[in-house]
Amino acid sequence: MKIAVASGKGGTGKTTIATSFVFALRSTYDVVYADLDVEEPDGHIFINPHIKKEELITTLVPRIVEEKCTYCGICQKVCAFNAIFVFKNTRKISVLDELCKGCGNCMYNCPESAIYEIPRAIGVLRYGERDDIEFYEGRLNIGEIMTTTAISYVKEKIGKHIEGDTVVVFDSPPGTSCPMVESVKDADFVILVTEPTPFGLFDLKMAHGVIKKLQKPYGIIVNKYESGFKEMEEFFDRENIPVLLKIPFERSIAEGYSRGITLSLQDNSWNEKFKELFYRIKEQIQ
Ligand code: SF4
Ligand code: SF4
Repeated sequence: MKIAVASGKGGTGKTTIATSFVFALRSTYDVVYADLDVEEPDGHIFINPHIKKEELITTLVPRIVEEKCTYCGICQKVCAFNAIFVFKNTRKISVLDELCKGCGNCMYNCPESAIYEIPRAIGVLRYGERDDIEFYEGRLNIGEIMTTTAISYVKEKIGKHIEGDTVVVFDSPPGTSCPMVESVKDADFVILVTEPTPFGLFDLKMAHGVIKKLQKPYGIIVNKYESGFKEMEEFFDRENIPVLLKIPFERSIAEGYSRGITLSLQDNSWNEKFKELFYRIKEQIQ
């Protein structure tokens, strides 16, 4: 089973929820924690894994066999990302690796078979373990824009190792653009984490819209909960949104967080709440 923990904005406590889940379930299930927030992965702070292996995350970029090329310009025409330029007069071709999405379109359409591909490193996949938790982390190189590619690379690697009843928790990137969609699109259930502020509500509405369009079963966890923010409660009622859990705005929780101790390790009652929540989610999916 795959559960994605997402949020419309950063700083809502998404990683606290995702890591609390895996700690709460580790004695009952095979669990995998996957940090797909590849631009800023921080789940390792809470999981504190023993890293066993690192490998490069790569994408393919085209290279030209100049002797075969007739400088016809077809590759430039078919590239939707303006990543390849043909200078007919000076008989030169230039590939902008940073813009190339590795789609292969130029290579398939080259009439002279003058294009081949080579791998280009865009980040690092780290794999490790902590007690009974398997840990995966995608980390994009600084300045790199191939976020979605890096996320799908990590997911593909995990997919090869999942068996039977394994619970995989995806810690998704914040926001509502392609990286978030890539990280939740094949999840069995999506948890949206929010906080009761006008900004939180604004971003939650957008994330909620995306999840509804994807037709995913979902529920909300309100973090740093304080009563009195009526607009959010009204939104939940109006849209018939299932609120799974409310985590109070408490100093002790924030202190634990600042020391890298996730919620389910701070207090056994939270451990039990996350377990209970998982069984409710499981029932809903089944
Ligand atoms: S499509 Fe092939 S032959 Fe034409 S310019 Fe590009 S690389 Fe050269
Ligand atoms: S692989 Fe795709 S994105 Fe890259 S240069 Fe070729 S057509 Fe453009």
